[in-house]
Amino acid sequence: MLIDQIVERDCNRLDYAAPHGIYRCHGDDRWCAIAVFTDKGLQDAGVAEMIIEEVRKSDLQLAGVFDNIVQDARIGNINKGAAFYRSSGADCMIAVGGGSVMDLAKAISLMLTNPGSSADYQGWDLIDNPAIYHVGIPTLSGTGAEVSRTAVLTGPEKKLGLNSDHTVFDQVVLDPDLIADAPDRQRFYTGMDCYIHCVESLEGTYLNAFSQAYGSKALELCREVFLGERTLESDEKLMMASFFGGMSIAYSQVGVAHATSYGLSYVLGLKHGEGNCVAFNHLEEFYPEGVEEFHRMAELAGVDLPTGVTGGLSDSEMERMMDVSLGMAPLWENALGLDWRERMPRDRLRALYERM
Ligand SMILES: [Zn+2]
Repeated sequence: MLIDQIVERDCNRLDYAAPHGIYRCHGDDRWCAIAVFTDKGLQDAGVAEMIIEEVRKSDLQLAGVFDNIVQDARIGNINKGAAFYRSSGADCMIAVGGGSVMDLAKAISLMLTNPGSSADYQGWDLIDNPAIYHVGIPTLSGTGAEVSRTAVLTGPEKKLGLNSDHTVFDQVVLDPDLIADAPDRQRFYTGMDCYIHCVESLEGTYLNAFSQAYGSKALELCREVFLGERTLESDEKLMMASFFGGMSIAYSQVGVAHATSYGLSYVLGLKHGEGNCVAFNHLEEFYPEGVEEFHRMAELAGVDLPTGVTGGLSDSEMERMMDVSLGMAPLWENALGLDWRERMPRDRLRALYERM
């Protein structure tokens, strides 16, 4: 359904109407039209439909549903989503899905108010204008995408997010029922993304009281979820861990696992959570206790971590992977300090990748 965009209704706020602005006009609560962004998998599984149905039943208008979000957003997908939003006449968007959906929706919301290509904004604090009003409803927990100031983007040159204060959702709805049916392996990988956020934030040089408070609590919740029995409360705890873990890194930074994982994803197409696990598996020299505990969590979850993933890479692919990784300066600086370039020369990074 497409409707005309209504920026604001004058209604009885007009100065020749009396009484001015006292009573709500009939339909005042129906002026807002919502575009829902999700992916085909969630649409087919009926998860997105649960939210869409709520919008239909509410006093709000459903401007349309875009279910073409694909894994690891690229510029073309953002442009398509933005074009859809414009033609739908929506006033705001709701994103329903996992990390990729959250990230793509955030990127679209920014590109609707900022000129040029999304690749121009890959980096830190390059966005000038606030995004359109965007709401996140996660269906997977761990990435922290529901709270982070990052919209991860695989651009033509690099995999690097649009990081800005304007990226953050205006509103987030956390409903543990929506993550209850996630497949076990996917739940583990995204859950470990959260665990790794906590370790990298808490052991980083950017740590501060704010990040420590959120990171410590998120770590405690991760331990309850992944070292204990699965109970009725597990999904609620995982959902809060994801949110708090995201808050922690929003004010500090991630570290070596993420810096290397971005390279793995760019060259090998690994999903974010899986790439982090592949990397973290071999990072005991940086995070000895964290990696040991992570191994126990993997064992309890019955997950065999992929190994030897970089074995078949050509020299130029290896070089490309290292370029992407070393481009993540703030991550390395958080992990290793200001002299990170001396501490992580290319041959050390290459040896690290070869172990993965
Ligand atoms: Zn992450």
